[in-house]
Amino acid sequence: SDRTPKYKRILLKLSGEALMGEMEFGIDPNVLDRMSLEIGQLRGIGVEVGLVVGGGNLFRGAALQKTGLDRVTGDHMGMLATVMNGLALRDSLERANISTTLMSAIQMSGVVEHYDRRRSMRLLGNGDVVIFAAGTGNPFFTTDSAACLRGIEVEADAVFKATKVDGVYDSDPVLNPEAVKYNHLTYDDVLEKKLGVMDLTAICLCRDHNMPVRVFNMNQPGSLLAVTLGGKDGTIIDK
Ligand code: UDP
Repeated sequence: SDRTPKYKRILLKLSGEALMGEMEFGIDPNVLDRMSLEIGQLRGIGVEVGLVVGGGNLFRGAALQKTGLDRVTGDHMGMLATVMNGLALRDSLERANISTTLMSAIQMSGVVEHYDRRRSMRLLGNGDVVIFAAGTGNPFFTTDSAACLRGIEVEADAVFKATKVDGVYDSDPVLNPEAVKYNHLTYDDVLEKKLGVMDLTAICLCRDHNMPVRVFNMNQPGSLLAVTLGGKDGTIIDK
C-alpha cells in the first residue's frame, strides 16, 4: 500500500535551532509536541526511530570560544545542552504515549543512561524511540557527525536531517530568491561544491559507509512522514 514505509529504521537529526521554533533561545514546547506527533505517526506505521538532538539553541562550543572560553570546555557545555534538549524531547514523546529511551554519550548516572549500542538496537527493534544525546561524547565534533555515526552504528536505513528549508540549495534561499534546489546530490557533489548542509566529517562518514542522507523541511507538517514513505520531498544525498 502507499503506507508502506521506504525506510524501516531511520536516524533523525533534530538541530537545537529546530527546537527553538520562533523563539530566540531555549525550547518551544509547542514545537516539541508537534515533533512528537509526527514521530508518533512514524511509529504508527512501524518505522523505528533513533533521534540525535543538537544543542545550538542553548550553547555552541565554537561560539563560546569567541568569548574567551576554552574550546574544549565550551564543547563540553554544548554536549550537556544536547542532554537538556534530549530530556525535554523524551518528556514530550512520553506525554504523547511514545515509549522512549534517552541515552547519553557522556555518563550521567541518575539522570540518563549511558550509550550502549547493543541495548539501543534492541530497544529500537522493540519499538522504542531512542534519543542519542551528548553527541559523540568528544569535543571538536558536531551533532551532525554524531547522527551519522549513530545511524551507521545502529544500521539505520538512512539519516534524516531536518532543516528549516526544504532541501539543499546552491546558495542560501533565505538570502537569494534565485537559489536553486537540488533534488539529488552525490557525497562527492556535496564535498566538491562545498555545500554547507553538514560538516565534512559527517558527509565523509556517510560516504565511507554508504549511508544515504535525506534533507527535508521539518517546519512543513507531514514532510517527515512523506519522506519516510519514499516521497521526493527535499534532497537525497547518496552515491
Ligand atoms: N558538541 C561536541 N561534540 C559532539 C557534538 C556536539 O563537542 O560530538 C558540542 C559542540 O560544542 C556543539 C554543541 O555541542 O557546538 C551543540 O551541538 P551542535 O552545534 O551540533 O548542535 P545543533 O547545531 O545541531 O543545534
